[in-house]
Parts: sequence; C-alpha cells; structure tokens
Amino acid sequence: MIKKIAILTSGGDAPGMNSAVKSVVNASLEKGLKPYVVYEGFLGLTNGNFKEVEKKDVKFFSTLGGTSIYSARYPEFKEEKTRKKAIAKMQEQGIDALVAIGGDGSYMGAAKLTKMGIKTIGLPGTIDNDIASTDYTIGFHTALNTIVSALDKTRDTSESHMRANVVEVMGRNCGDLAIHAAIATGAEVLSVPERKLTEKEISTKVKQAREEGNRSIIIIVTENMYDIDSLAKKIESFSKVETRALSLRHIQRGGSPVAEDRTLATIMGAFAVERLMAGENGVAVNIKDNKLSTKDILEVVKMKRQSNDELLRHYDLSK
Ligand code: ADP
Repeated sequence: MIKKIAILTSGGDAPGMNSAVKSVVNASLEKGLKPYVVYEGFLGLTNGNFKEVEKKDVKFFSTLGGTSIYSARYPEFKEEKTRKKAIAKMQEQGIDALVAIGGDGSYMGAAKLTKMGIKTIGLPGTIDNDIASTDYTIGFHTALNTIVSALDKTRDTSESHMRANVVEVMGRNCGDLAIHAAIATGAEVLSVPERKLTEKEISTKVKQAREEGNRSIIIIVTENMYDIDSLAKKIESFSKVETRALSLRHIQRGGSPVAEDRTLATIMGAFAVERLMAGENGVAVNIKDNKLSTKDILEVVKMKRQSNDELLRHYDLSK
C-alpha cells in the first residue's frame, strides 16, 4: 500500500509541468497519501532534495510557466550506483512511489528505477510531442501557440520588406511542432525530419513562391537539420530573394501554459495517482482519441511514432 508519493520534473522543461505537479499533489492528498516534490529531477532524487507539500503550496501552480520544482540534465543517473543512492534517499523518507514528468530520457530513468523495485509512473512532459504512445504531450500546445505568434510577427515584417525568412523550430526528430505551425500560418515551405528537403529544393521552392507573386515567404524547418544562416545565404544567392534566418530557440519552452496543456496535465496527473493506487507500476500515461490509458514505459520508449503523412498531406492541401 502506497503512503508517500514523490513527484519530479526532468529533462527539457515544458509549459504545463506545474499543472501536472499540482494535480498529482491534490489527487494524492485526496486519496490520503503524503505528496513530496523533488527539486531538480533525478539530481534532486539522488541528493534527497525533497519537500513534503500541502495543497496551499501548489494552489497557483497551474498558471506558471517552466517548472517550479526545477529540472536538471543529470547523465550520472544512467549509472546503477547513482540510482542506488537515490533509492536509499527515498527509503530514508519512506517514499514508496514516484511520478516522473518528462520525455524519453526521463522515462528511461523511471523504467530503471522500476527494475530496482521502486513503483513509478511516467507523465509525458515535453513540447516536442515525440512520445509515440500519446496523441499529445504536456507542453506541445503552448509551444505551438508561441511559435504561431512568432511566425505571425515574422510574416508582418517580411511582407513589409518583401523578404523570405527561414524559421527554425524545436521538435528534435519529430516534425509535429513545425507541421502544425505551418498549417496554422500558411508557411510557403516546410522541411521536417519526416520529409526533409535538400537546400536546393528549398531554394527552388522559394524562387517559385516569389514567381507566383508572394512578397513574403516563410520557410519553417525543424531544429538540427541545417545551418540556417548558411541556408539563408544559399536561398538568397539562388532565388535572388532577400532571406533572413531566425531560430526561435528557448522562447518556445517558456510562458504560461495554454488551457489545453493545463487541462491535459491536470487529468493525467490525477489519473497517474489512481493507476499507482490500483497497483500499476512501470507504466506511462497516454491520451489517445480523448481516452486516458497506460502502457509499459519501456514499450513506450521503443515505440515508433505514427507516420505524419496525413498531416503533411493536409499541409500540402492548405497552402
Ligand atoms: P527528456 O526526458 O526530455 O528526454 P533527457 O534525455 O535529458 O530529457 O533525460 C532527462 C534525464 O533522465 C537525464 O538527465 C537523466 O538524468 C535521465 N536519463 C536519461 N536517459 C537515461 C537512461 N538511459 N537511464 C537512466 N536515466 C536516464
């Protein structure tokens, strides 16, 4: 029987992580469990940086951006001796279970703790939407809105000055942020890991777009695919369209979460507590077709994402 439950946020921060923390705390209290927050992810878990919290401590968490219990990159957690230290710290406090909010890496950390006898459950907290078992991750919608707002502003000035703009967005190996943003803003050119264009293909599309009468031309690319400054120069030299490069970088991670992320995080957080109390362990929470579910966390990490072909087809139709 679980009596004390710890919550941590780990890996890249995502808007809505705070809403998830609040929900886990409140659902735990509702069920008679003692909730603890862990500061700085697995780093804090290893150093025993925990605090027991009450309802009032998290009352306004839902509106806050970032993660108020902080995150950390802590590669040492891959080592068994580090995890043993973390488990000892949890046992000292009598903590029986852990909710880990993060992406694939955090899920791996949780899965390894499960193998070592700790009850864990994962919540998908990442703006990238790159967790295959769930339709949406906590943070995706807020980041998407931030990107759309930045693209609208870029469009204004590009249209005034008759320019092209290469705009680089986050997503790692997943094009979801870029594709959704391209559909929402009518970007003329899109290159994502699932459908990568060569620099020559991008330049040709820009040239065509100008010939078709577009004053401004927006090119959205997912991060880590090109050197965008050099790409902008190549586009300009080939197409004769003045081209600037802009990487949105970390502003995509910040800001108060939008309603979709607050709601998703809140229902997932409460569901995680219920599933742990029902005896589930070593699983991650998902939402599919508006239904909450759980799946073995290691299976989730290994799962391949569904193809984005249908979404890309809609982008092509919508241009
Ligand atoms: P994300 O959770 O967003 O994918 P990371 O990949 O940085 O972010 O992982 C977050 C943290 O999870 C790491 O800093 C590390 O502490 C832990 N972690 C990542 N991979 C593993 C692993 N293979 N085994 C144990 N812990 C891991």
